[in-house]
Amino acid sequence: MSTGNQFSNSLAAADIATGLHPYTNARLHETKGPLIMERGEGIYVYDISGKQYIESFAGLWSVAIGFSEPRLVEAATKQMQKLPFYHTFNHISHEPNIRLAEKLVEISPEQFTRVSFTNSGSEANDTVIKMVWYVNNARGKPEKKKFLARTKGYHGVTMASGSLTGLLNNHRDFDLPIIPVIHLTTPHLRTSGHDGETEAEFTARLLKEIEDTILAEGPETIAAFIGEPLMAAAGVLVPPAGYWQGVEALCRKYDIFLIADEVVNGFGRLGTMFGSTYFRFKPDIMVTSKQLTSSYMPLAAILFTEEIYDILADNTAKIGTWGHGYTTTGHPVATAVALENLKIIEERDLVGNAARVGKVFMENLQQLSSHCLVGDVRGVGLMAAVEMVPDKSSRKGFSQFGKAGGKAFASALQNNLIVRVLGDQLIFCPPLIITEEQALEVVARARTTLEEVA
Ligand code: PLP
Repeated sequence: MSTGNQFSNSLAAADIATGLHPYTNARLHETKGPLIMERGEGIYVYDISGKQYIESFAGLWSVAIGFSEPRLVEAATKQMQKLPFYHTFNHISHEPNIRLAEKLVEISPEQFTRVSFTNSGSEANDTVIKMVWYVNNARGKPEKKKFLARTKGYHGVTMASGSLTGLLNNHRDFDLPIIPVIHLTTPHLRTSGHDGETEAEFTARLLKEIEDTILAEGPETIAAFIGEPLMAAAGVLVPPAGYWQGVEALCRKYDIFLIADEVVNGFGRLGTMFGSTYFRFKPDIMVTSKQLTSSYMPLAAILFTEEIYDILADNTAKIGTWGHGYTTTGHPVATAVALENLKIIEERDLVGNAARVGKVFMENLQQLSSHCLVGDVRGVGLMAAVEMVPDKSSRKGFSQFGKAGGKAFASALQNNLIVRVLGDQLIFCPPLIITEEQALEVVARARTTLEEVA
C-alpha cells in the first residue's frame, strides 16, 4: 500500500497510487515520489515546477534530434490525418513502411538488403531469435539453437531477449534465461582484464574463450553470436582492438550468424552511422531502434542479408507463411516519423556533429580524471562514462555499490543536469544536436556534481 501521504492530492500521489515504474524500487518510489517531466526543447527538459535540465542522456540513449522537433510533429500529424493505422499482414503495405525500409537499406552497410519492423528493441531481438531458429531449421540445421552473448550485455527484457541480456537483475526472480544462451566474458579490459594483461593479450584470451566454448558445445549447436558493438548499459564499455574482427572470423569459421545489436549505437551515436562501421566488422543481422525515430514513436528495425531472406522466403513458400508479426508491425505513423527523423539526421549532418562535438566532449571529460573520485573516463563519439571509485590506484568499486552514484544523481539534478547513473558510473549520451558550448556546460555541471559527492 502506498505510504506517500505527503503527495496526496497531487499528480505525484496519483502516480504513487497507480503506477509500477520500470527499473524502479517500487517501495522506495512510494516515499520518494516521481520526478515529473512536462516538456522538452532542444537538449533541455522541464519538470512540472518549470525547472530546466540539460538532458545529457537523451532520454534513454534516444533523442538524437532533440526534444522539440516540429518536423516530426508535422510528419506524425499528416500521417495521422491520412492513414493513422494500417497493418502489414497478408501482402498489405503502405507508403511509409515501404519508403522507410528502402531508406534503411540505402544508408546501412551493403550486406543489408532486407528489413523487418517491430515496436521495441526487445521485440526486435525476440524476432531475431525466432528468425535465426526458423532459418536454421529451414536450412537443415535444427540443432543450431544456442546463442552466444556477453555478461553485462543488454538486449531487452522479453522472455527471450531478456535471456540474451547478461545482467543479474534481468534474470533474478524472473526465471530467466529460458532459451539456451552462454554468456561470455565482458569484452572490456578495465572490467575483465587480468593484472598486467595487455590489450592484445586480452583480445586473444577473449577469442580463445569463444572458440573453446564453440568447440566444447559443438559448432553444430551454436546458432548465433549477439553483441552490442559498444556495450551501452554495461557502462559504455569499449571493446579491445581486434575483438570484433576475431569474432567475425570465428562466426564465419563455424557457420554462426553474427548479430549486431545497434539499438543504442545505431544512427550516429559513435560518430559513424552504425557501430559495426566504427569497429569495422560485417554482421549478418543488425537490430536498431531508439534513434531510429528519436524515440518520438515506438519502432525498431531488423536489417538482414539477402542470403538469410532467401532461406526464410523459401521456407514460407514451403509451409505457407512467415507466421510472425505484430498488429502494429511497420506502423504508418511510426515509420513516417522515422523517415523524417533520418532525413534530419542526414541534412544536419548529426553523425558528423557526434564525431566533432564528441571529440571535444571527451577531451574535456578526460580532464575530470584528475578528480579524487574518478577512476576512469571512456567513450566514443557522443557516448561516455565517468566511473567513480573509492581508491584511484585500484579498479575495485565502492563497498556499498551505487551509493556514490545515487548521491551523484541527486546532486546532478540540483545542478540542473540529468545524467544516467549505473552503479557508480555516470553515463552521458546527449542528443546528437548538442553544440560544443552545450557539451562544455555538461562537463562543468558534472564537475560540480563530483565535487559535491566527494
Ligand atoms: N538492445 C539494446 C542494446 C538496448 O540498449 C536496449 C534498451 O535499452 C534494448 C535492446 C531493448 O530495447 P527496448 O527497451 O526498446 O525494448
